[in-house]
Amino acid sequence: MIELDRYHKAEEVSKGLYRITENDFVNLYLVTGSEKALLIDLGCGAGDLLAAVRKLTDKPLIVAATHRHPDHIGAAGQFGSYWADPDDLRSIYDSFFGPKASRAMCERAGMDYNPDSDKPCTVLPISDDTVFDLGDRKFVTEKIPGHTAGSRIFIDHDNKVIVSGDACNPYMFLQRPGCLNVEDWLKKAPVLLRYLKQGYRSWYGHGDGVQSAGQVEKIIRYGEKILHLYREGKCSEAFGMYPEDTLPRVFYKTDCITSGTSVPEY
Ligand SMILES: [Zn+2]
Repeated sequence: MIELDRYHKAEEVSKGLYRITENDFVNLYLVTGSEKALLIDLGCGAGDLLAAVRKLTDKPLIVAATHRHPDHIGAAGQFGSYWADPDDLRSIYDSFFGPKASRAMCERAGMDYNPDSDKPCTVLPISDDTVFDLGDRKFVTEKIPGHTAGSRIFIDHDNKVIVSGDACNPYMFLQRPGCLNVEDWLKKAPVLLRYLKQGYRSWYGHGDGVQSAGQVEKIIRYGEKILHLYREGKCSEAFGMYPEDTLPRVFYKTDCITSGTSVPEY
């Protein structure tokens, strides 16, 4: 591990791809290409993230987010602008998960929230056609709505590398405000599984970051099980998780299981 500052440590998990852990809580990823570098996700806004990243690369920096949650865009104000899916510009993500939430996460974790993290910031829209060209390698994205409406995974097809944020985590959160429903998430989650079965390597937004086909296959199966139980009238609590005793597991809100629903602010 490379110590970048008191909150950020990095390891090169594959050639030119660094997992940066913030306080052993959330993972950011830095990809260094021949011309540019791509920073995917921005942590909670603790410390001087830009200075930490500059210890790994001096290339012009493209900044992007897998989704607009406070532990993934916390330091946005330090950078001035970043790329994200427009479906994550819904007011619920600003009101419930904006800088106040990032600051609170830092305080709970005993980290100093950088006031610059709260500076005004422009969100640039990612579409299916957006290509992040780093010179000798490039990333495209695919949307897997569920955890948020605009969650995207970042893919380097030439090197078979994926950064997936929280789109298909082993502790799959579909119960928080702004989450969609289990059924709609199940429509696109298999995209990631297909890539993993083709030999792609994927890193996600928490834990040690290492994502396996087995993990993703299990949470998809659990999601299908939740949908099945719901249709049989067997989901009686307002919130639930399946399974209850082990990881991986899927967290859900019982009135947001079927297509078209989403978890409101509560
Ligand atoms: Zn998230």
